[in-house]
Amino acid sequence: MSQADIAPPTLFIDGEWVSAVSGGTREIRCPADGTLVSTVDEADRSDAERAVAAARRAFDDSGWPSSSPWERGDLLLRVSDILVRDKETFARAESLDTGKRLVESRIDMDDIAACFRYFGKIAGTDAGRLVDTGSPDALSRVQYEPVGVCGMITPWNYPLLQVAWKVAPALAAGNTFVLKPSELTPSTAILLMRALTEAGLPAGVGNLVLGSGAEVGAVLAEHKDVDLVSFTGGLHTGRTIAAAAAATVKKVALELGGKNPNIVFADADFDTAVDYALTAVFLHSGQVCSAGARLIVQDEVHDALVDEIVRCAEQIRIGGPFDEDAETGPLISAEHLSKVEDYVAKSVAEGAVLRTGGRRPDGDRYARGHYYLPTVLDEVAQGSFAVSEESFGPVLTVERFTDEDDAVRIANDTHYGLAAGVFTADAGRGQRVANRLRHGTVWINDFHPYLPQAEWGGFKQSGVGRELGRAGLGEYQEAKHVYHNLRPAPQHWFSGQ
Ligand code: NAD
Repeated sequence: MSQADIAPPTLFIDGEWVSAVSGGTREIRCPADGTLVSTVDEADRSDAERAVAAARRAFDDSGWPSSSPWERGDLLLRVSDILVRDKETFARAESLDTGKRLVESRIDMDDIAACFRYFGKIAGTDAGRLVDTGSPDALSRVQYEPVGVCGMITPWNYPLLQVAWKVAPALAAGNTFVLKPSELTPSTAILLMRALTEAGLPAGVGNLVLGSGAEVGAVLAEHKDVDLVSFTGGLHTGRTIAAAAAATVKKVALELGGKNPNIVFADADFDTAVDYALTAVFLHSGQVCSAGARLIVQDEVHDALVDEIVRCAEQIRIGGPFDEDAETGPLISAEHLSKVEDYVAKSVAEGAVLRTGGRRPDGDRYARGHYYLPTVLDEVAQGSFAVSEESFGPVLTVERFTDEDDAVRIANDTHYGLAAGVFTADAGRGQRVANRLRHGTVWINDFHPYLPQAEWGGFKQSGVGRELGRAGLGEYQEAKHVYHNLRPAPQHWFSGQ
């Protein structure tokens, strides 16, 4: 395969490619220039309900949940191999949907293949455990079982990566699923369903519905036959989903946003700190949940560091996904671009100093895309709108600190808690600060790396639960305690017996 040919039918329900019952469709356009990428089906509630019914039947009536975890692991390894084989097709489709540079999409595909490989390898490695009963006449064990039907709702910034973090562990654990990717970026989810089919996934185990959150996503949050809803996306949507899920007390996993601090101490290597500060926030135009959008810098180096970051930010080359010169790309949509514009306007109105950017780039080549210049807002007040809210765009806010305690206090002064970075030449200080930060991931002298074998998720309002790692598999498992009395006899608890 070299080019993805995506056209209706694009819903995958009960092992069949089908079109939306209503006949509705949606055009997918490249954010870099507005060109038409594909037309896909637009599902409504009835399609989502059909998909839930298929996943329910596959869970209740097929042998999938009780199949050998080793066989399920083998299936995931085959998916990983297909992702490696078809990497270019997947990467191009991802870049066309998101506007992301092809080189970044290729890296994402490597990460996705690694995710499937990791869960493929651990699928059969934990058969539960024996528990000491304190008696030779009783046997007790804890075993892990699939949760059931999983609803999965994912965003547009890392479309297939966010899907993989849910689908791979869910299948490893023996669940069935209904996936609703972002309505803006459905292509690689379609390609993944083809790969799962090729790898041998039984009908009904994996289902795909494309459509809006309010229409299709809401069904997955509300439906009584969905046992778990796993969501990645914005905080406000997460609250809506958790509230909708409460009516049926389903399990809820939330991977939400972040306003992630990047702390730079004066002793940090200057060039390294500048370099990472730039990639922390401007990679993928800041549309990264763990973007280091909040620079917290020690007083002594503030002026020199910010001057250099501004100078470098002004050199960043912007362009489309296949533009070899480009270092970063467009925002996902006109709507998102206007949200970033509003965020900057509001921040400046409350006193932030605009050092660079703060507008769309000049030139005809940018006219049809949703581009925004790398932006630096200096002297931002603690507790202000600018540092509390996620812009999810290429916007860096800068605050100052005096000493270690001050840095930790400022970095923890947020309702989010997804990720943080610390740059220092003092290894002891790096470790001390990492231990005190209330964030789910802390990088010392680095920013952004994550590993499929290490848990990912948020403290505070950045989420509930964990993806990746052993805990990422545990999200999709129920622990069951089985107690066996080996010497059954009447207990005569009640006197009349
Ligand atoms: P979003 O919340 O607008 O949408 C995410 C998904 O939810 C989409 O599929 C959307 O259709 C669906 N949705 C919207 N309203 C819904 C509703 N009422 N019921 C059910 N589903 C609904 O988020 P987005 O703009 O696509 O993504 C950006 C956000 O995602 C940012 O806040 C970012 O920080 C966050 N994010 C977090 C992580 C993480 O790992 N923590 C990773 C990536 C993105």
